[in-house]
Amino acid sequence: MRKETLLTRVGREMAGSGPVNPAVQRASTIRFDTVAEFERAQRDRYERGTLYYGTYGTETTFAFESAVAALEGGDAAIAVSSGLAAIVATISAFVGSGEHLLVPDSVYGPVRIACEGVLRRAGIETTYYDPLAGSEIVAQIRPNTKLLYLESPGSLTFEVQDVPAIVAVAKQHGISTALDNTWATGYYFDAFARGVDVVIQAATKYVGGHSDLVLGAIVTTQAHYERMRRTVAGLGYSAAPDDCWLALRGLRTLPVRLRAHAERAIAVASYLDGRPEVELVLYPRLAGAPGHALWKRDFTGATGLFSFVFERTIPESAAIAFVERLRLFAIGASWGGYESLALLVRPKAIRSLPTWQDTGSIVRLQIGLEDAADLVDDLKNAFSTLS
Ligand SMILES: *Cc1c(COP(=O)(O)O)cnc(C)c1O
Repeated sequence: MRKETLLTRVGREMAGSGPVNPAVQRASTIRFDTVAEFERAQRDRYERGTLYYGTYGTETTFAFESAVAALEGGDAAIAVSSGLAAIVATISAFVGSGEHLLVPDSVYGPVRIACEGVLRRAGIETTYYDPLAGSEIVAQIRPNTKLLYLESPGSLTFEVQDVPAIVAVAKQHGISTALDNTWATGYYFDAFARGVDVVIQAATKYVGGHSDLVLGAIVTTQAHYERMRRTVAGLGYSAAPDDCWLALRGLRTLPVRLRAHAERAIAVASYLDGRPEVELVLYPRLAGAPGHALWKRDFTGATGLFSFVFERTIPESAAIAFVERLRLFAIGASWGGYESLALLVRPKAIRSLPTWQDTGSIVRLQIGLEDAADLVDDLKNAFSTLS
């Protein structure tokens, strides 16, 4: 079955022959008739999704986990409370005290809070590498490097990574790899086919799709599943069944929504590309945009989140006025919902490498499901305030 068909079918076992969709199963306590049954569930809880205690999930959680594993093409998945929790659990599973972690400089910002805070205090050292490094990543590897982390395209600035080249280097050195696939999802980027060990999906974004839930998924190969389950259990991370249920519903329409986001995004990106006030559009799908060649080689589609860089002559105050003038784009964190968003972003404030120090103001747009012509009109109107 192709992925689009698969996403209409997976995770429905619990519904049986009755309703189309499984019910929400909320539980802390699961009851057992015998000590032996209880102890079997207790023993098996790291090997597969097992009804044992609510913190390890209920049938609703397991339904979402099997569906998101199918989306990414992994063997199994574990749902946790947020995308960031999925990332921290993954790093914690592979890297320990006295060991080293490689993270792209374009990583989702809050990951740095974890790397420089709780993970550093636990004795884990992080190096932020140039996301555009391909096989030259080899120069960053140390004898104690345990995990090579990737996110492609990167947050805010959308650098497309040469995932096959980086994964090949990691494999030569016996280092595990994890990739944040939130932007493309498994529908447009097959990370497991390129040898990645663990894939992270912030289901908060496109999987949920309606800006009303926070949820993360760790999708893994069988080889790393038990290690991931034990780590998540030890951290006490869990996911709310209601959020899993919403995310499972979101998965049913993911392919059609992504196509609609992309259709509007390319129209808006092309319009911005033609504006004299815009120096650069950071949308890998756009011909001539940074990363376009790698995107074309490795991705089967693009989604609706990208940034653009104003000409340096435009002061930041004008960029702020531009964003505030927009009517169809709200100012707000997160993305992946049906409504458009605009955000002034300042990568240089958080980056370790000098790459984005000297550019014009950068605005990130999440292109929702509004009519593209209305979005372009809104942008046109905001541009008129600049002159
Ligand atoms: C939002 C986001 C996350 C974190 O997801 P939360 O559920 O908000 O914690 C991780 N990676 C990327 C690329 C994101 O955009």
